[in-house]
Amino acid sequence: MNTLNQPVGILTGIGAQTANRLQKLGLCTLQDLIFHLPLRYEDRTRVYPICSLKPGMTVLISGKVEFIDILPRGRKSLICRISDGTGFISLKFFHFSASQHNALKPGTSISCFAEVRYGFAGLEMVHPEYKVIANPDDCITETRLTPVYPLTEGLSQNVVRKAVKQALELCSHEPELLTDWIPESILKQYRYPALADAIRTLHAPDESVSIEALQNGSVPALKRLAFEELLTHYLSLRITRNKTKAWQAPSFLETATGKVAAEHFIRSLPFKLTGAQQRVIAEIEADCRLQHPMMRLVQGDVGSGKTIVSAYAALLALTAGYQVAVMAPTELLAEQHKRNFDVWFDGFETQVTYLTGQLKGNARKAVLQALEDGSAGIIIGTHALFQDAVNFHRLGLIIIDEQHRFGVHQRLALREKGQQGGIRPHQLVMTATPIPRTLAMLQYSDLDISIIDELPPGRKPVVTSVIPAERRADVIDRINGWVDKKKQVYWVCTLIEESEVLQCEAAEKTAETLTQALPNVRVALIHGRMKSAEKDAVMQAFKNHQIDLLVATTVIEVGVDVPNAGLMIIENPERLGLSQLHQLRGRVGRGNDDSYCLLMYQAPLSDTARHRLGVLRDSNDGFVIAEKDLELRGPGEVMGTRQTGQMHFKIADLARDSDLLAVVQQIGDTFFTHSPQAIQPLCDRWLGASTEYSEV
Ligand code: ADP
Ligand code: MG
Repeated sequence: MNTLNQPVGILTGIGAQTANRLQKLGLCTLQDLIFHLPLRYEDRTRVYPICSLKPGMTVLISGKVEFIDILPRGRKSLICRISDGTGFISLKFFHFSASQHNALKPGTSISCFAEVRYGFAGLEMVHPEYKVIANPDDCITETRLTPVYPLTEGLSQNVVRKAVKQALELCSHEPELLTDWIPESILKQYRYPALADAIRTLHAPDESVSIEALQNGSVPALKRLAFEELLTHYLSLRITRNKTKAWQAPSFLETATGKVAAEHFIRSLPFKLTGAQQRVIAEIEADCRLQHPMMRLVQGDVGSGKTIVSAYAALLALTAGYQVAVMAPTELLAEQHKRNFDVWFDGFETQVTYLTGQLKGNARKAVLQALEDGSAGIIIGTHALFQDAVNFHRLGLIIIDEQHRFGVHQRLALREKGQQGGIRPHQLVMTATPIPRTLAMLQYSDLDISIIDELPPGRKPVVTSVIPAERRADVIDRINGWVDKKKQVYWVCTLIEESEVLQCEAAEKTAETLTQALPNVRVALIHGRMKSAEKDAVMQAFKNHQIDLLVATTVIEVGVDVPNAGLMIIENPERLGLSQLHQLRGRVGRGNDDSYCLLMYQAPLSDTARHRLGVLRDSNDGFVIAEKDLELRGPGEVMGTRQTGQMHFKIADLARDSDLLAVVQQIGDTFFTHSPQAIQPLCDRWLGASTEYSEV
């Protein structure tokens, strides 16, 4: 067995109990230990004169005890004042023994290490590490910074430090254990240290390394490891994609009847497709004609017309004799798709069916039957589509709308569900959440990406204003005027609390006060805790203009289309991410008239928040907004926790290391031709047993 795969228990001083505790930190093997990097460092490399100390510094000092006393007042404590000739400082102990008291007699020399604080009598150190020494000049300094590791209950720094040290020593006897799989030319180009050096530096930095560079993550040793880790994730996703290319899929061959149907389909539309829609349709068509499964992501801003593009893909499947499954994240959205597809596929000899968790009894049986015998060509629904009871006759295409609501694993599981006899359906995923290029390459490198970067003609940008909540009365007044013009309004309530209950309560209150303030306006409420039938009824009534003002929580975020609603008020927009706000705003501006979005913030607004809302006011381009969001908040926020939750990094931190992403992609692509032998060992090193990306 490779030494690095040996359990931590083989090290001296690690018994079963310690091994257990290490395991709680995910440290099972020597390799885990070696890649377990310090959280921070302590500097015991020099002794500070007491006169140079400031609160907050964590330092080594040495001096002589001037006096020692036990203070009986309040909490009993041992106080000891020491001086080094330049100044004095108090040491304070709340727990102490008699022998400790005795050992610190006036005149004794000691060295101490701790954080300096302000106390009653000037500077103090509370419970410092200390050592009695022969005289103040005998203070022992270290040659390297001291690592401070993440711990868990029952583990001490010393145990982890010793374990890491031993593991590193074992490695130095077998240099091939830390084989550097990054080609030398790349190390040179980016001035990265070799793997073994990088690891040693991070565990025990010498004086050449600045503590600041270590702390802020800019030290080349750390960058290099983060780079290697990100590179490995990228390679593994690319492998998944390459595997997909080897799989079988139904090829939707071009036929004369298919061509006629497609032309007829396009001609029957009440609008002309935009150039971007046509381009993306062509990309999809090219994919589907091949014999391996399409894995394509369509990114397009809200309202860019993704649905019709997916319908065209459905048409290709149908005319080739295959079934299509369309999955949406909410019932509301599924139903809207159902209505659209009903119109577009009217006149086709197939059923467009609908399945959600709500559908029960005989109606449900009938749908399942129609899917199984193939009389239903298109099925639209929610997650319910992929339950065990659902069996397809000949599934050829899966369409997933608003992909950001589903995780990578759901996406992959879904593909397996559609597999029949080794043939896997094509997959088309659509998202309105634009993801900056650099992130997309890491998150979606198992997908091909198409971008609809053009809105249908006549769309006007939503006029966005940023206003303080004190102007609420004016805003309410404006609603009156708007409703008089027979137009509709959204009022979105947000709350930072995760609690849906609180969100809904807030929305309920707002609906009440607005109802009172606006007697001539028909107000209704929609929120996440309503039953979906209720939500649908409200949404339907809003679409039918039986409601003028819809008070909502962020549930209306995705997909729903009410062209007559041209005014949206968003309360406390400072609490939401820019991309989410942009999505919300996309609900208005679907008609031909001017539309407005009022971002009503709660003063005072921080500078960053002001800046962020300004971005939204000044741009209607989802990609620009996403790039700004990335800049201002970091990738975790942009991608949403749900998505980053799937990517666990040991060392890399997307916020800190986003500068590496472009390089990772560029170099990653060369690995398949230049260093294919490195890929598996890298995956073993960084992904270990959890190589889920390449396996599912
Ligand atoms: P999204 O990309 O946000 O899912 P939709 O597919 O819901 O957008 O389309 C938004 C609206 O634009 C729908 O009413 C749709 O019928 C309409 N639409 C789509 N493509 C065009 C086009 N090329 N010209 C005019 N309207 C279009
Ligand atoms: Mg949509």
